[in-house]
Amino acid sequence: MGKYNIDKLLSELGVDGPSTPEPPAQEMQGARPDRWRSRTQADQARRYDEQQGPPDEQEIDLDAQMQAQMQAEMQAEMHAQMQGDIQVYQEDPDDAQDTGVASIYIPDEGASTASEQRLAAELVKAGAITQAQLTNAQKVLSKTPGLSLIETLIDQGADETPIQQVIARAAGLPFGRIDLEKGLDGGFDENLVQRLGVEFCKHHLVVPLRTEGSRVVIGATRTDDVFLLDEIRHRLRVAGIKLVIVTASDVRAALEIVSHDETDNEQINAILAEVDEGDVEIEKSSEDEVDLEREAAESPIIRYVNYIIQHAVKEGASDIHIEPAEKKLKVRYRIDGVLFEAMNPPIKWAAAITSRLKIMANLDISERRLPQDGRIRCVVQGRKLDLRMSTLPNAHGEKTVMRILDTRSINVQLEDLGFDAATLEIWQNQIKAPHGIVLVTGPTGSGKTTTLYASLRQLDKSKLNISTVEDPIEYHLDGITQTQMHEKIGMGFARALKALLRQDPDVIMLGEIRDTETATIAIQAALTGHLVLSTLHTNDAPASITRLINIGIEPFLVGAAVNGVLAQRLVRRLCQHCKKQQKPTEEMAEFLEMQGIAPDKAWTAEGCDRCRSTGYSGRVGLYEQLTIDDQVRDIVARNPNVAEFRRLCIERGMVSLRADGMRKVSEGLTSVQEVLRVTEATV
Ligand SMILES: [Zn+2]
Repeated sequence: MGKYNIDKLLSELGVDGPSTPEPPAQEMQGARPDRWRSRTQADQARRYDEQQGPPDEQEIDLDAQMQAQMQAEMQAEMHAQMQGDIQVYQEDPDDAQDTGVASIYIPDEGASTASEQRLAAELVKAGAITQAQLTNAQKVLSKTPGLSLIETLIDQGADETPIQQVIARAAGLPFGRIDLEKGLDGGFDENLVQRLGVEFCKHHLVVPLRTEGSRVVIGATRTDDVFLLDEIRHRLRVAGIKLVIVTASDVRAALEIVSHDETDNEQINAILAEVDEGDVEIEKSSEDEVDLEREAAESPIIRYVNYIIQHAVKEGASDIHIEPAEKKLKVRYRIDGVLFEAMNPPIKWAAAITSRLKIMANLDISERRLPQDGRIRCVVQGRKLDLRMSTLPNAHGEKTVMRILDTRSINVQLEDLGFDAATLEIWQNQIKAPHGIVLVTGPTGSGKTTTLYASLRQLDKSKLNISTVEDPIEYHLDGITQTQMHEKIGMGFARALKALLRQDPDVIMLGEIRDTETATIAIQAALTGHLVLSTLHTNDAPASITRLINIGIEPFLVGAAVNGVLAQRLVRRLCQHCKKQQKPTEEMAEFLEMQGIAPDKAWTAEGCDRCRSTGYSGRVGLYEQLTIDDQVRDIVARNPNVAEFRRLCIERGMVSLRADGMRKVSEGLTSVQEVLRVTEATV
C-alpha cells in the first residue's frame, strides 16, 4: 500500500467510502456539512487572494473607506434623520453595488475582536453609544466570550438605530427602516418571506423587502454572514441580492405580522373547502391530464403545489419530497442523485398540500394513517409528465414523495451515457447478438433501466419481436410489447417469461433476475435462440456470474448462456462553467499517480450560480464491461470464487468501475471524490 492511506484520504475528502452507495442528503439549512462549508471558506479565501488581497488588506481598505466616507457622510445622514427625513429604507442612489459575496466585508474568526474594537470606536465616535455603555458591554463580553458586541449593547439598552447606521456605513451598505405600517401591503414581501421560511427569517433576522429587477432586496441586521447570503440566494433562486441594513426590532415586528396574519388562516380554510370541490372536477374530466398552468388561477394552495412541481421540472429534479417536520414543512428535490432543500412553505399548509396532491393522484384524501400510492399525469410547460406518488404517515403528518417520470429524460441515446468508444462498440455488438444473455448490474439508482431502454431503442423493431416484462413499466416504448408484472396475482417474472416464450420472441427484456426459477428460464431462452436482456443486483460484473452459479445454475450453463455483463454507476458530472484544475495535496497527488493520472490533470468541483453552488450538473455513467469469450467461459465452467474470478478478469484487460471513473476524472468529466464515493478499490 505504500505511504498512501485510503482511509485518511477518504476522510479528508469527506467521503464515507464505498459502503454508502447513496449520497447523503445535503441539508442546505442551518448546520451544513463541513465539507460544503470548508469548500466555501476556501473559495472565499481564494477570492480574496484573487480580487482583493488577503483579508488584512481588505480591512485596511475598509478602514480607509470608513474614515473617508464616514466623517463626510455620517453627519449629513444623522442630521437628515433628525429632521425626520429618512424614508423607508433610504438608500444611496449611487450604491448600486451588487453585494456579491466577495464584496462584503467578512471578518474571519481570529480577526473578529480587532474588527469589533474598531467598530466599537466608530460607534462611540459617531455618538451611537456612549463610552460608558461601551465599557459596560466590554465587561460583560470579557466574562462571556462568544457574545457579540452589538447584541450585548442592545441588551443593555443602547439604541439600535444609530448602531445599525454605523454598521451599514462601515460596510458601505445602505440603512433603512422597514415600513411596518404598510406591512404586507408594500412594507416587505410576504411571498418571499414564505419562500425563505418564517423560521429561517426569524433565526437569521432577515426579511425580503422587495424585488428589483432580477435582484431581491434583503433587510438584514448583519453584514458579515457570507453563508447566509449564499443560502438566501439558493432558497430564493435569484442571481443577485441587495442588502439593506435594518434593525432587529423591525425584523421581529415584520415577522410577527406574517405569523399573526389572521386573514391567512381564513384563506387556508377557504382553500381547503375549495380543494374538496375542485378535485372532483379534475377526476371526472374525460382527459386524465391536469394542465397545471391552466388550473393555476384559483387558490394559493393549488398554485403553490403547481409551483413545487413546475420548479422541480425546471431544476431537472428526479424526485420531490414533501415532508412535514415539527415546525416546518420541507420541500426537497433530488437533483443528480442528491437531495436539496428547495423551499419551506408554512407548516399549516401541510395538510392542504398533501390533500391537493392526493386529489391529483386520485387517492383517498380522508385516509391519513395508511400509506398510499398513485400516479399524477400532468402537463408542465408543454411537457407531458408522469409523477409516481406515494404517501407515508410520519410523526408530524404525511410525507409525500413523487418520482418524476419524464419521457424526455429516458429518451437518451446510448452514445450520450458516457461510454468510451471501445466499450460502446462491444456493448452494441452484444445487444445485437442473435442469442444469449446480456446483463446490466449495479445498485438501485445506478441507471440500469436507462441503459436497457436506450439499448432496446437501438434494435430494429420492424424486423424483431421485442418484448419486456417489467416491474413497474417505467416508460412506454414504441414498437415494443411491454408486460407489467403482478406478483400478487401470481404473475411473477418466471410466469411472464414462460408466456412470452410462446409468443415467438426475438429479444426479451426482463426487469430483473431475482430467483432461481427466473434464472433457469432465462438461461433456457438464451440457449434456445433468444436474446435476453436483464439486470442483476450485484456490485460488479464478475460477481454477476458467480451470483448466477450461487443461486443454482450449473457453471457450464452460465458460461454457455451469458454473452457479457455491464456493471455501472452514476457519478455527478462536473459543472462545465466552474470546474477547476487545482494543485492537489501531496497525498492526493500520490493517489492520482497510482491511478495513472498526472496530478495536474485532475479537475475539482467549485460551485457557481449555474450548479446551485454544488460544482456539479447532470450525471455520467461509469462502466465495467466483462465480455464472456471462450477463455472466460472455461474459467466460469470451473466455478471460480468471486475474488479469484475478478482478479482474472482484470488481468485479462477488464477496465474496473474505478479505473473507468479515474479515466473520466482525467477527462474533466467528474471529480475524484465522486468516483471514490461510488466505487470500491479493486485488485
Ligand atoms: Zn458551476
